[in-house]
Amino acid sequence: MPPIRRVVIAGAGQGGVHTAASLRRLGYDGDLTLVSAEPSLPYQRPPLSKTFLRDPDPAHIDFHDAAHYSTLDTRLVLGDPVTTVDRPNQTLSLRSGETVRYDHLVLATGSRPRRITDLAHLRNVFHLHDRDSSAALGEQLREGRSMLLAGGGFIGLEIASAAADLGCAVTVVEQLPSILAHAVPTQVSDFLLDRHRARGVRFRLGRSVVAFTTDGDRLASVTTDDGSEIAADVVVVGIGSVPCTELAAHAGLKVDDGVVADTRLHTSDPHISAIGDCVRFPLAGRPVRLTSVQHAMDSALHVAKQITGRDAPYRPVPWFWTDQAGVKVQMAGAPRAEHDRTEFVAGPSDAAFAVRSFLGDRFVGGVTVGMPREHLAMRRELAAS
Ligand SMILES: Cc1cc2nc3c(=O)[nH]c(=O)nc-3n(C[C@H](O)[C@H](O)[C@H](O)COP(=O)(O)OP(=O)(O)OC[C@H]3O[C@@H](n4cnc5c(N)ncnc54)[C@H](O)[C@@H]3O)c2cc1C
Repeated sequence: MPPIRRVVIAGAGQGGVHTAASLRRLGYDGDLTLVSAEPSLPYQRPPLSKTFLRDPDPAHIDFHDAAHYSTLDTRLVLGDPVTTVDRPNQTLSLRSGETVRYDHLVLATGSRPRRITDLAHLRNVFHLHDRDSSAALGEQLREGRSMLLAGGGFIGLEIASAAADLGCAVTVVEQLPSILAHAVPTQVSDFLLDRHRARGVRFRLGRSVVAFTTDGDRLASVTTDDGSEIAADVVVVGIGSVPCTELAAHAGLKVDDGVVADTRLHTSDPHISAIGDCVRFPLAGRPVRLTSVQHAMDSALHVAKQITGRDAPYRPVPWFWTDQAGVKVQMAGAPRAEHDRTEFVAGPSDAAFAVRSFLGDRFVGGVTVGMPREHLAMRRELAAS
């Protein structure tokens, strides 16, 4: 294959920015273009459901200032998304009409929140994902409004936690009988539920929203399947994410709940890789889509290595963290997906413990609460197995 001299990265989030930095660190000295759909400087998303709700200072979440991208000799295109990819000619078009050539294209288009379309147009309904939606939600929460959260996943519960800390009356409606049911062992789910309740968050578990009323362009109340009506000033929908695959699908790449890639993160076109939230790739023999900072960073580094001639399969140890109800919870491997038994490890206080999950005798993943060293030990153990 001829040498790669023009790399374009579509998407300037966690994965895209890390791809650019990794390429330069690994000695890539060709053209580098980082294209962002968003008009602002690239920023981190994890604080959006945590500290940014209290303190919406952009300087706290930007990855770098504008000068940094010049130092990296990277052309940063802001507010001008990639609209089409012409694979036979290895060019892509931006919304502004500009055409850009590439030898290798990295798709780092991320994911977006799953929406309840009937509610999306209402002014007090939030599907939190970007800087603007977090800033607008934070403004409401800092005024101590009542908040209803539909869905008890990680991001939603972080928002519920921040809202309770800001003095809001918070109700969570979750259709499963426990929170984070698919993600963490029961001991962790029960522990977090107690912590949230102790901080004043109310839960309606095993209930779904079946109807709602509006007042002009605002949502006024929701009705759950047991006939209860819950009124709230602000409604947050936290029911998961969907990968941004439109660009890939339009370009004729294989897409199946994510841009389909092989163990090297090559898509069905060898000149195009996919990373981060948008890619579905084989891990331990199963196709997976991971949505975490760890995977965005690791897959970015992996693709940068591929582009600079270091070929290897991508075999990450997945890990993730969440800050909620006053504790840091860290996960490594697959603590919940499949296990035969769990082992409880007591920590130095009531608010610190770990749960290890096993498939037969094999350690497959674990969750720690307030035990960062145990988390690192789990990651090392999983990497070595
Ligand atoms: C509120 C929130 C809290 C989170 N908290 C945590 C946490 O505590 N721990 C953790 O591990 N992970 C967390 N995550 C997940 C983590 O932020 C993501 O997994 C990570 O950002 C994925 O990186 P990415 O580069 O794939 O996508 P993103 O960072 O989402 O970036 C994708 C970018 O691509 C742009 N884009 C899309 N289409 C185009 C196009 N056609 N042209 C140009 N640009 C395009 C998008 O606008 C976006 O800017 C959180 C996510 C959110 C939303």
